[in-house]
Amino acid sequence: MVVAKFGGSSLSDGENWRRVLNIVKEGDRQAVVVSAPGARFVGDEKVTDLLFKYASSDKEQKETVWQKVADRYVDIANFFGIDFSSVLEETKLKLTGASVPYVVSRGEYLSARLFSLLSGKKFIDAARVVKFDEKGEIAQRLTYQLIEQSVLQSGQNAVMGGFYGSDKEDNIVLFERGGSDVSGAIVAAAVNAEKYENWTDVSGVFCCDPRIVLNPVFVKCLSFFQMKILALLGARVLHPQTIYPTVKKSIPINVKSIYHPDEDGTWILPTTKKRGDVVGITAKKVVSVEQIEFKTPLTSPTPLLSIITPAFCRAVFDEETFDATKITGDGVLTTTHATLISVVYDGKKNYCPTIKKALEKTGLPANVICDEHGLAACLTAPDKTAEALRTVYKALE
Ligand code: ADP
Ligand code: ASP
Ligand code: MG
Repeated sequence: MVVAKFGGSSLSDGENWRRVLNIVKEGDRQAVVVSAPGARFVGDEKVTDLLFKYASSDKEQKETVWQKVADRYVDIANFFGIDFSSVLEETKLKLTGASVPYVVSRGEYLSARLFSLLSGKKFIDAARVVKFDEKGEIAQRLTYQLIEQSVLQSGQNAVMGGFYGSDKEDNIVLFERGGSDVSGAIVAAAVNAEKYENWTDVSGVFCCDPRIVLNPVFVKCLSFFQMKILALLGARVLHPQTIYPTVKKSIPINVKSIYHPDEDGTWILPTTKKRGDVVGITAKKVVSVEQIEFKTPLTSPTPLLSIITPAFCRAVFDEETFDATKITGDGVLTTTHATLISVVYDGKKNYCPTIKKALEKTGLPANVICDEHGLAACLTAPDKTAEALRTVYKALE
């Protein structure tokens, strides 16, 4: 069985929905996972962002924000000449007094309902099959069982919204932002899919973020481990947790573009042949916490990277989610904001000397923190993600 996930960027408007429906119809794609419609142009609001706004608005504003959400689906439904108003009305009525996760999950819920109407695939409500335990983690056995059953009952012809599930009491629980990738991987693992297709708006994984570096090298193939590191350290083409369900069952992930469905895309596989090449370069805004004269190294909350020597511990955290109040460690702690530049590579070559030289030549500081096990990582000035990324890409080209 093939599981195909379509991201918000591929479901942004009617024209893209037509592309997606053709892809699903032409290939043998039995189980589909969809996101909420994303941005149609630079500066456009994603449906998920609108729903977060709805949840924090007062009563009057709510009406305007909901209208914007509803209009996105009405536009798509109109494109295909179908009426979606009753589903929208029924959904709106249930928003009064609903929790924030419930409100926000309606983006993916509505996408799946609309997709079901347009494709004839059976709608599966993720709230019934994707179950979280009391620790907020996926209750794996139960979830896999429920998904497998539902997909079989649909005659292997199903569509589910990504990004949400529910807890024991059936309260809606959201994944992290970008989490439909993880939902798709969970469905793939549950049905033992032969492959997990992740369809998006770019041809696959590039060596660098193509929004920052013009025409970066395309990566045909990389390992699960390399993809996890790249996603964690800044390549947000896939959510970093996408890898876990698929790695356990060795299900290949194929990242593909809805604009070029005949292209092969990028394959993420259990292992790849060592070629001694750079697989990816990322830049991310981070907070670096240094700990000296310590007894216990900082491990909680889990850092992106942590380098521990007998005299010194450095834990690097994602700036977006960093919470200073959660850091409690012994010894002397210093906290600095920085840009983390990372190079993921095959083979044994050490890249840090080249990275350091290139950054310093452009007037940027370079503090090497790791150059082993296929990862070269370096801290540079804060708020210099684009400049640092372009500099390092050019130096390694
Ligand atoms: P979706 O809506 O399909 O989930 P995302 O916006 O989450 O799509 O991810 C796709 C985007 O990731 C691309 O449009 C691209 O700009 C960005 N991106 C960042 N880094 C990379 C990379 N290394 N390779 C490919 N795309 C990348
Ligand atoms: N729609 C959600 C978000 O914007 C989930 C996803 O796109 O994967 O984060
Ligand atoms: Mg995404």
